[in-house]
Amino acid sequence: MKTGINHLFIPGPTNVPERVRQAMNVPMQDMRAPDFGDLTKPLFAGLKNILRTETGTVFMFPGSGTGAWEAAITNTLNPGDKVLMSRFGQFSHLWHEMAERLGLDVHVIDVEWGRGVPVEDYAAVLAADGAHAIKAVFATHNETATGVSSDIEGVRKALDFSGHPAMLFVDGVSAVGSIDFRMDDWGVDLIVTGSQKGLMLPAGLGVLGVSAKALEASKSARMRRAYFEFADMLKLNGDGYFPYTPPTQLFHGLRVSLKMILEEEGLDNVIARHARLAEGVRRGVAAWGLKICAQPGFESDTVTTIMVPEGVDAVKVIRTGYDAYNTSFGSGLARLAGKAFRIGHLGDLNEGMCLTALSVAGMALRDNGAMIDTGAGVAAASEYYREARAGAAAKM
Ligand code: PLP
Repeated sequence: MKTGINHLFIPGPTNVPERVRQAMNVPMQDMRAPDFGDLTKPLFAGLKNILRTETGTVFMFPGSGTGAWEAAITNTLNPGDKVLMSRFGQFSHLWHEMAERLGLDVHVIDVEWGRGVPVEDYAAVLAADGAHAIKAVFATHNETATGVSSDIEGVRKALDFSGHPAMLFVDGVSAVGSIDFRMDDWGVDLIVTGSQKGLMLPAGLGVLGVSAKALEASKSARMRRAYFEFADMLKLNGDGYFPYTPPTQLFHGLRVSLKMILEEEGLDNVIARHARLAEGVRRGVAAWGLKICAQPGFESDTVTTIMVPEGVDAVKVIRTGYDAYNTSFGSGLARLAGKAFRIGHLGDLNEGMCLTALSVAGMALRDNGAMIDTGAGVAAASEYYREARAGAAAKM
């Protein structure tokens, strides 16, 4: 029998704060009531602040991040359009697969797993496309499988450098609300996220930020779409209504999570906390003498993918964590299966929780034959957290 709480260290769905859970415990309500917009309209405004956009339009589709990917593509592109993508982990592979399935002509750059969007290669491809055949450039901001973050601002610069008019699509599913993201400053045309990561909610909302340019493109885009039609949403969203039944419970939760992020902690502080917590986890892993998948300069502040030593099965490490210590870690995905496990450190968490993750991961690694000094991970991380706190206090 398992006792105590299950420690959830997967990179989504993330821990839902108790206040957010309680806020969702409300009776069903009339989604066509005259005052329904009082609940929903501030959510659009709050999400614009999270995405750091004044000029963009926010959509909330009942669905998940994958649905939002599809909405982004089908509303703004035409069958056969040429697009530029790169893949370097399970999620960038899946987005590429979707683009192909939807009939886009994809120029894909394969990148070694552990690295991110190849900005220089993008710049070269765009510079060579003098006829502007490429209609959109895709970038996965945070590859959740490998724990890799990419330079989205760099992609914008690559577009600007060659004066290329292609739209910039960004997968922000495991980045938005946790890692610095600036839709307007970085000229992002479509940003996609889901409710179950940095927004600290259950899955169920596919969120998009859409630039004026992308919205204009949606007026003539010929790709087939029905459920995910921007125009249907636009007709009703202005007054806070939806073309079909929206998940009102999630809206109540979102109201509270936006308040926590934007008004209580502050978005900059949320981002700084993620950076601090992630650094502690990385130091803990380094103290075990283990490697992470991300190469230097690409480390993610929301998820760390830990490579297990030769002869150790990462599947068993995860299983031990779950069965013996009531703790969930993310699995190694696709080619990382058995070779890696992931600690998700995004959303509602703190230093003590990260130390628990390191402590349990250390035990599960040792239990499965990794010759590491289990306590060294927690020691290194806790020392770092103490120093970081003292440093922050000194600045105040
Ligand atoms: N993109 C990234 C980077 C993800 O991490 C995920 C899910 O983990 C997705 C897309 C797919 O999102 P969803 O599972 O919400 O459909």
